[in-house]
Amino acid sequence: MEIKDHHQTALKKDEDYIWHSMKPYNPEGTMVVKEAEGSWITDTDGKKYLDAMSGLWCVNVGYGRSELAEAAYKQLKELAYYPLTQSHLPAIKLGEILNEILDDDYVIFFSNSGSEANEVAFKIARQYHQQNGEPHRYKFISRYRSYHGNTMGALAATGQAQRKFAYEPLSPGFIHVAPPDLYRTNEKRDSKPKDLQSVKDIDQVMTWELSETVAGMIMEPIITGGGVLVPPDEYMSSAKKVCEKHGALLIVDEVICGFGRTGEPFGFMNYDVKPDIITMAKGLTSGYLPLSATAVKKEIYESFKGTDQYDYFRHINTFGGNPAACALALRNLEIMEEENLAARSKKLGEQLKSELTSLLETHPFVGDVRGKGLLIGIELVKDKQSKEPIEEKVINKVIASCKRKGLIIGKNGATVAGFTNVLTLAPPLTIKEEDLAFVVSTLVETLGEVKD
Ligand code: PMP
Repeated sequence: MEIKDHHQTALKKDEDYIWHSMKPYNPEGTMVVKEAEGSWITDTDGKKYLDAMSGLWCVNVGYGRSELAEAAYKQLKELAYYPLTQSHLPAIKLGEILNEILDDDYVIFFSNSGSEANEVAFKIARQYHQQNGEPHRYKFISRYRSYHGNTMGALAATGQAQRKFAYEPLSPGFIHVAPPDLYRTNEKRDSKPKDLQSVKDIDQVMTWELSETVAGMIMEPIITGGGVLVPPDEYMSSAKKVCEKHGALLIVDEVICGFGRTGEPFGFMNYDVKPDIITMAKGLTSGYLPLSATAVKKEIYESFKGTDQYDYFRHINTFGGNPAACALALRNLEIMEEENLAARSKKLGEQLKSELTSLLETHPFVGDVRGKGLLIGIELVKDKQSKEPIEEKVINKVIASCKRKGLIIGKNGATVAGFTNVLTLAPPLTIKEEDLAFVVSTLVETLGEVKD
């Protein structure tokens, strides 16, 4: 069936038929996107925008990569579908390659979304403890301001009350601690573990909750949707030690931070830590097809290989590890390696952060510019001394004005619940240098307009 793309008709029909996942970022209305190439998207009105958010932080290799379409097409013709209750070659190969990248022994469970990958992690962690003779370990610790997904467990893990209250009660057993925040606390990038209050809090909460009831802790290496919170260098490795002390597993959510976004293949690789479980989605296929994965340390997997009829992992999904999605992911990972995209992200990210820092240093509302790799947050405040967050209407104005000039940026953060005061950038890792210059000039010009 032909899909008509007349701009006004499309907008009208969109209003009639489509329930959007959020209020559109742009207060001025929905945009119907028709095509995309590289870092640029084009709407049905023919207007082009540089997508400095890679969709939802996911189009890591950029749009319009025909190699990816071809990989999926070839696989669809050969074997379009078979469930992973048995196996198929693209999943096996992808499991092998992910192990190479992770540089350790993990067994991979495939699903369809980041949320589901996290649900899988929670279920595996609980069952693992049960099978290890510790049936009371059911609680998970996560951080306020984090986002881990939209399903009942992943949303329970999420630390943003404003996204949750309408759907309570969610899954029980999720407990939150304060995240590290270099801008708003006394912790420093190079603080020693003994000085990290955010880690002491984890230790304290695990103790108060009773260690024997804690199954694990989930964290992103850098909190992304909560406003790009880069932790102190020693935070993750210290948190892992605390988890070990209490017998809890460390689950690392790499849904955004994975696949080169932070300048390393995976975000945790910035922080000298080996997670017990790693969840990933988005950049795994650069968003071209739905696919997610939960990588589980071999030792944990071993406990699911007993002979008891209940010893196996009772989680089945129809679409997880779809052969075409796996074949596409394999080609996507090849591109990342061929084009050295993690290293590119590191280099361009440093460049972007330092340009924005120096250009925005004297801006009265710019409190902080931070990030790692091509993942940048710009925190806007009313007053640099008090650090009171700026009103969201200012953020919305900046976003709308950037959009009018052809630049898509994001807004995130929940310094105060229900409130967004951090502008975010996460462009494709393949972004051209001249396009990055456009991001900087447009953003700086737009922020210049809202100085007073
Ligand atoms: N974890 C993180 C860190 C995320 O940012 C997201 C989605 N933005 C998810 C999990 C959930 O992924 P999905 O939307 O694919 O369910």
